[in-house]
Amino acid sequence: MTRVIDLRSDTVSKPTEAMRRAIAAAEVGDDVFGDDPTVNRLEEMAAGLSGKEAALFVASGTMANLVAVMTHVRPGEEILLGDQSHIFNYEVAGAARIALAQPHALRNLPGGGLDVAEVEAAIRPPNLHTPRTTLLCVENTHNRCGGAAIPVSHMDELTALAHRNGLRVHLDGARVFNAGVALGVPVARIARDCDTVSFCFSKGLGCPVGSILCGPAGFIAEARRHRKLLGGGMRQAGFLAAAAIHALEHNIERLAGDHANARRLAEGLRALGPFAPNTPETNIVVADVLEGSLEGWLKSFREAGVLAVAFGPQRLRMVTHINITAGDVEEALRRIERVAAAIPA
Ligand SMILES: *Cc1c(COP(=O)(O)O)cnc(C)c1O
Repeated sequence: MTRVIDLRSDTVSKPTEAMRRAIAAAEVGDDVFGDDPTVNRLEEMAAGLSGKEAALFVASGTMANLVAVMTHVRPGEEILLGDQSHIFNYEVAGAARIALAQPHALRNLPGGGLDVAEVEAAIRPPNLHTPRTTLLCVENTHNRCGGAAIPVSHMDELTALAHRNGLRVHLDGARVFNAGVALGVPVARIARDCDTVSFCFSKGLGCPVGSILCGPAGFIAEARRHRKLLGGGMRQAGFLAAAAIHALEHNIERLAGDHANARRLAEGLRALGPFAPNTPETNIVVADVLEGSLEGWLKSFREAGVLAVAFGPQRLRMVTHINITAGDVEEALRRIERVAAAIPA
């Protein structure tokens, strides 16, 4: 049996032996009582790294974003966000269903950003009839825009515009450490003028479970109530927090290797002919399928032991992560090359 090379997502990664040891050794307590020393330590570390006062450990990136929106907006207020954003596309409409916010989606630019003039035009002046526009959500790196790392200059432009108009800004930074490594700047700088930022431990950082929401202390206290409301108060969560601490201490710099592997994967795919991949800035390869059906390709890949996902009607996505070596990328390309020798119908 050939080893399966799983490039569906960086969420498929499994904990290393060292991370498993950190989990096993965790000192734990009941986090709903505030008694878990490992969760408390993680929340302090994450607040420090993101340049915020406080942080809240949550079960997932989806929960982090939902709790953020619930805490930022009152029912009936409007949030501005990208039409390619994760919050708008992949969170089961939680912002609308649970936070009771009205999402107003604006065109994402190819690099994952937003057109400043379009954001400005979407901010509603006070009027009896209109919803109040109170929150702008930004995503960095941008998943559907091929893992694009949004430069600090554009982040600053958006946050300044939002704040000038009385909006707050939430950064969905599920992969913000990938952005930091790609841009060569600390995460605290990327998120500097964002009111809140969330990020995932369960993706490039290689943890089994967990995300975190960072922001002002008063905001996080209120967010903690919302996490409880959603059933997200966890007890001996220190086992998960220990993995996250281990990741923050060991798995950030290595993301540069994932980015190099993604670039090599895209380059190899391009050379084969039937695929038009992006030039990855981080760990996400998206490729348009120029010949043959997407489903046909995905099936042939799978039969050859390479897993990818559909990412649009004629587009696939592959993501590098901690369990994928440079050698695995070469092996995946060899397998795909064999498949491409006979283009699937
Ligand atoms: C994965 C992801 C999320 C959600 O994270 P889950 O842990 O899967 O709920 C949010 N935003 C972005 C940009 C993501 O890529």
